Amino acid sequence: MRLTRYFLPVLKENPAEAQIVSHRYMLRAGMIKQQAAGIYSWLPLGLRVLRRIEQIVNEEQERAGHIPLLMPTLQPADLWRESGRYDDYGQEMLRIKDRQDREMLYGPTNEEMITDIFRAHVSSYKDLPLTLYHIQWKFRDEMRPRFGVMRGREFLMKDGYNFDVDKAAALHAYNRHMVSYLRTYERMGLTAIPMRADSGPIGGDDTHEFLVLAATGESEVFFDSAVTELKLGNREVDYDNRDEVAAVCKEFTTLYARTDETHDQALFDAIPEDRRKVARGIEVGQIFYFGTKYSAAMGAMVTTAEGTKVPVEMGSHGIGVSRLLGAIIEASHDDKGIIWPEGVTPFPVGIVNLKQGDAAADAACEGLYKALQAKGLEALYDDRDERAGAKFATMDLIGLPWRITVGPRGLANGVVELTSRRTGVSEEMAPEAAVARIAEIYAGV
Ligand code: ATP
Ligand code: MG
Repeated sequence: MRLTRYFLPVLKENPAEAQIVSHRYMLRAGMIKQQAAGIYSWLPLGLRVLRRIEQIVNEEQERAGHIPLLMPTLQPADLWRESGRYDDYGQEMLRIKDRQDREMLYGPTNEEMITDIFRAHVSSYKDLPLTLYHIQWKFRDEMRPRFGVMRGREFLMKDGYNFDVDKAAALHAYNRHMVSYLRTYERMGLTAIPMRADSGPIGGDDTHEFLVLAATGESEVFFDSAVTELKLGNREVDYDNRDEVAAVCKEFTTLYARTDETHDQALFDAIPEDRRKVARGIEVGQIFYFGTKYSAAMGAMVTTAEGTKVPVEMGSHGIGVSRLLGAIIEASHDDKGIIWPEGVTPFPVGIVNLKQGDAAADAACEGLYKALQAKGLEALYDDRDERAGAKFATMDLIGLPWRITVGPRGLANGVVELTSRRTGVSEEMAPEAAVARIAEIYAGV
């Protein structure tokens, strides 16, 4: 993308309404525009990151054997009357009437609708296990929308629902979700710690929230610092192997890590003192086993191998797709701007032409741009007629992890400069070497 042809409405001043750094940088980098409280337009740069996050979520869900579909944003109220949640949900639910006076709502979540789909088409254990998910806009009329996309009213969520014949199979689905989530967050450059959350009336190990540590997080968290060292890495996990999946979950949930809702001071005090940490975290996902709560209420029954009819076992599992942009920025920035991890960056690399209009510099930039493109990498080429300082400030603000700087002086010696946004370290090399290096970096992403 050439910057002169792009739409990147960068702001010079700090917007007064933004209280936290991710909100401030998303507005300044021209990623979002607020349209009403907690409701945003996604401008081109923001949309590119949102799409990257969706792509990673999709890839990891499909790797775990989960199947995408798409349910609508608007739902009929009657479905929610069946589960009893139409009245229980309260003011967070946006209720709407259509021209026929039919009661509708803008979905805050989809348990009822997915159960309705299931009961219409599945009635035998032979069609199980089944996990369906979608990435769809939700609306919750939050009392205090704030912090930009972190607590919006309209927000993008991945929500998945498992259907299983018995509790053991449903807990395997739960575990599969935990492992796929760990891999999802790691690919985004995040450390998201699964924490025992409030399990409500069901009891047991049946809900975990995933928290990214950040001073601006809304949750208070208590954990053993050793938990932050755990990494899934590139290990292959066989998602069909119950024991293997359960072993990974055990590895990630044995060390103490809880939110204030489930915190147990006595257990916490048993951790060696230098590893006891109290901090704040951003909830970027939650997994939940709830058994037959919806299937029993809505008549989603399956026949078992023994020929009996039972309500199907279920769970629901969510990732805050749009919130993740804020969480990633909170976890990865400096005083100049965002520092995108390679996994989610809107463009893999930026090209800065120090002297637009100089024949050699222009030709070298074009050459780099095309060579990167040939390797499947779309650079953001700053081809504006601007001072170098302004170009660097824009690149630093929007946070592309790599920058290639091209100027007549370097070119006279056959070199350009490759700079890491994270470390600030620059290296001079031939243009071809810079392209090769960038390609190598992204080959593993
Ligand atoms: P919270 O406690 O933050 O209100 P929740 O527990 O009600 O969230 P879930 O129903 O678990 O939310 O939704 C799944 C995920 O969707 C959450 O983990 C979070 O990342 C994201 N999410 C929830 N509410 C919002 C919101 N208002 N804006 C942006 N993302 C949200
Ligand atoms: Mg939650």
